[in-house]
Amino acid sequence: MSEENYPCPACACDYAYPLDNLWVCPECALEWDPKSEEYAPASDEIIVKDSLGNLLKNGDSVQIIKDLPVKGASKSIKVGTKVTNIKLVNGDHNIDCKISGFGSMGLKSEFVKKI
Ligand SMILES: [Zn+2]
Repeated sequence: MSEENYPCPACACDYAYPLDNLWVCPECALEWDPKSEEYAPASDEIIVKDSLGNLLKNGDSVQIIKDLPVKGASKSIKVGTKVTNIKLVNGDHNIDCKISGFGSMGLKSEFVKKI
């Protein structure tokens, strides 16, 4: 069996489990085949908009529009910082990125603008 975990494509529940060739979601009872095209990872379908309402996509570059304090860091990310090659994710911090001097982190799209 694969060690992979597949979140439910319908409700994004993380507790889906394999059953024969299918996966089953305990939350919404969906059964699906994670190998099927239909349920390919939906990363391209995440809708993330920047502070101005521009649609962002994976690989975009953005600029920070306000100083952002960073948990565990002695400095904050300064307004105007450029962030390249962002990756969109689901969640509260919907942009995954690497910022030089800080490393990998999650940003909220409301604090960036597309450049
Ligand atoms: Zn589900």
